[in-house]
Amino acid sequence: MKIIADETKKCIGCYACADVCPKSCIRMEIVDNNLTAVVNEESCIKCGLCSKVCQVNSMPEKHEHIECFAAVDKKECKTSSSGGIASSIAKYYLEKGGAVIGCALLEDNKVKHIVVDKTEDADKLKGSKYVKSDMSGIYREIKRLKDKPLCFIGTPCLVAGARKFCETLKIDDKNILFVDLVCHGTPNQYVLRDCIGDNKLKAFRDGNSFELVFENELNKEDKKYAEMYMIGFLHCLFYNQACYECPYACPQRVGDVTLSDFWGLENNQNINNADGVSMILVNTEKGRTVVDALNIYKEKHTIEEACAQNGQLKAPSVRHKNNGRFVKVYPLKGKKCLKRLLIYNRFKRAIRNVLFSNELTKKIVLKILK
Ligand SMILES: Cc1cc2nc3c(=O)[nH]c(=O)nc-3n(C[C@H](O)[C@H](O)[C@H](O)COP(=O)(O)OP(=O)(O)OC[C@H]3O[C@@H](n4cnc5c(N)ncnc54)[C@H](O)[C@@H]3O)c2cc1C
Ligand code: SF4
Ligand code: SF4
Ligand code: SF4
Repeated sequence: MKIIADETKKCIGCYACADVCPKSCIRMEIVDNNLTAVVNEESCIKCGLCSKVCQVNSMPEKHEHIECFAAVDKKECKTSSSGGIASSIAKYYLEKGGAVIGCALLEDNKVKHIVVDKTEDADKLKGSKYVKSDMSGIYREIKRLKDKPLCFIGTPCLVAGARKFCETLKIDDKNILFVDLVCHGTPNQYVLRDCIGDNKLKAFRDGNSFELVFENELNKEDKKYAEMYMIGFLHCLFYNQACYECPYACPQRVGDVTLSDFWGLENNQNINNADGVSMILVNTEKGRTVVDALNIYKEKHTIEEACAQNGQLKAPSVRHKNNGRFVKVYPLKGKKCLKRLLIYNRFKRAIRNVLFSNELTKKIVLKILK
């Protein structure tokens, strides 16, 4: 099995090599819970493009931020994961006749990057999908759309994939705005599929609450596994293995603009935190031009304030202590093993619920913790 990424590190699963290959002889496979590009050596003509495009072999340049904002788009935030700025940017591009490449939850529960070129379809991209997006074929769309105003939104490894794709094929990216998200990590889609079965997923988040939302009513058993998926996600049990060594969990960014939640502004009178607040990092002059043109509420903050309660701007997520067991046991037992692997988190939650069940015990515990 020939693998493209430097074997001392892990393939990050961006799909850029699969799209750049002139012989279409690269497929993405799960190897020990890591999405990995694998070459069919019989069809390979050894042109070297896949090694050249690979961000693991050479990463695109990262930018220091120019400005940092807490921001809200009042029209979009209620239906978005945080302050709705991703939608403001998408609509800005669509209204001037451009296109947006971003991540959508499709009818069959698949999560995939798609091209949106009509304002009425902008909402297809709304909301965070807490799973690795299928990128097959999408970088080739950049080549097709490069002469239009184009916005590409994704986790930093996908933005890095897009930038490396342009660099390798010498595509001029002056019309392309790259927007990256601060990222906790992404599980692979097979775990999500197993956990939700045939229930129709509507969203990965209900406002500020991290829970899967469905179009239909779930039975008790399905509810249990849907909940376990979200607990496993939040506690870093089953991310694509490369996420635990993510090179993008830092204040230097691959996008022209970076978006995330802005935590820690609960006492800010100017912003209604209940509907979510976004952090915007403006990293390039191209990014500044777009952010300045948006019709949003924004106020300046420091990167230190943004980082204070956002661990993923400082370091990659810490591997759950049972991640190694997940990699070994899941292929044999499937989702049934999750209950046991997450038992520690359930135990912690049960204790917290007891201790915080009345004001007096809550005050005592908080005093001890101080
Ligand atoms: C997997 C993942 C992990 C995240 N982890 C954190 C975190 O730890 N801390 C933090 O502050 N913020 C995190 N975010 C970002 C946060 O959830 C919001 O997406 C961000 O604040 C933008 O919110 P919004 O309201 O502006 O836009 P939203 O309406 O949330 O729009 C989200 C945009 O993100 C894109 N997108 C959605 N899902 C994916 C995906 N799976 N892969 C690639 N692109 C996607 C869509 O194309 C859309 O344009 C994460 C996002 C994702 C997808
Ligand atoms: S060397 Fe060229 S043909 Fe072979 S897998 Fe890589 S991109 Fe495809
Ligand atoms: S280009 Fe992306 S998918 Fe291909 S080997 Fe490198 S990291 Fe993996
Ligand atoms: S944690 Fe890093 S490697 Fe994993 S999806 Fe996010 S940006 Fe990509």
